[in-house]
Amino acid sequence: MDKIRIVLAGPRGRMGKEAVLLIEETEHFELVAAVDRINEGKYISDIEGMPNVQAPIYTDIEKCFQDVKADVLVDLTTPEIGRVHTKTALTYGVRPVVGTTGFSEEDLKELKQLAEEKELGCIIAPNFAIGAILMMKFSQMAAKYFDDVEIIEMHHDQKLDAPSGTGLKTAELISEVREAKKQGHPEEKELLEGARGADYEGIRLHSVRLPGLIAHQEVMFGGFGQTLKIRHDSYNRASFMSGVKLAVDTVMNVDTLVYGLENIID
Ligand code: NAP
Repeated sequence: MDKIRIVLAGPRGRMGKEAVLLIEETEHFELVAAVDRINEGKYISDIEGMPNVQAPIYTDIEKCFQDVKADVLVDLTTPEIGRVHTKTALTYGVRPVVGTTGFSEEDLKELKQLAEEKELGCIIAPNFAIGAILMMKFSQMAAKYFDDVEIIEMHHDQKLDAPSGTGLKTAELISEVREAKKQGHPEEKELLEGARGADYEGIRLHSVRLPGLIAHQEVMFGGFGQTLKIRHDSYNRASFMSGVKLAVDTVMNVDTLVYGLENIID
């Protein structure tokens, strides 16, 4: 099997560092270059704490694709630069796997059009944790039988958005199979504003923010005499790497843009 030649954007970041290790440890992956905003002309092995990988670092992604033959770009940067990287990769015939979050509907539409024009795969996945994807899928399955459900998502206290994208996505998936319904007592009253959480078509969403947490979610269903809890915990960024691996392998065999790992997991 030929190795999949990968360019990694954002190698010094928290996700990027894990991705360097993933690529290094995966026999059929090869890190052929990295795109960073510093360290032009150096090699990955020159960066403190990095494995001994002789992949050159470029600050200009176009120059990178002109110099280096690559199959896949893995982007783990910021939405501003990530969208430029993704577009440039497609223009150069390189298939993007994007973990960077924060792309707009407009960005996705434009990138989908470009991917289809070029007949290239492009996977954009706001959550690479396979366990989190399964938690969402199992929750949708359970919601067919339990229509009372509350979502408790728990994250570190530096997270800016609430509820989390995964919490919201879970509520959306559940709503696809559950009639909108007001839960709890019809006359319930909040004595403190927000006590019952946010309301998504009657599904209550609670956001916990505490130092020490990483990314966790529990979906709790209630029925007569029983409850069902479906829970996922990400303890570190390594939890996202099996999803990156799956996306890199899959992107080689698709010719359109796929948004969300749930669309490539059966
Ligand atoms: P991070 O630690 O802040 O890393 C981001 C990296 O991107 C930094 O090394 C940064 O460099 C680099 N960068 C910024 N601008 C750049 C540019 N112009 N060219 C090249 N590199 C540039 O963040 P992180 O936690 O690794 O997360 C990275 C992205 O993945 C974020 O969008 C985050 O939301 C997302 N994420 C996704 C998942 C998922 O499952 N899909 C999970 C966790 C995080 P400097 O250090 O110089 O700024």
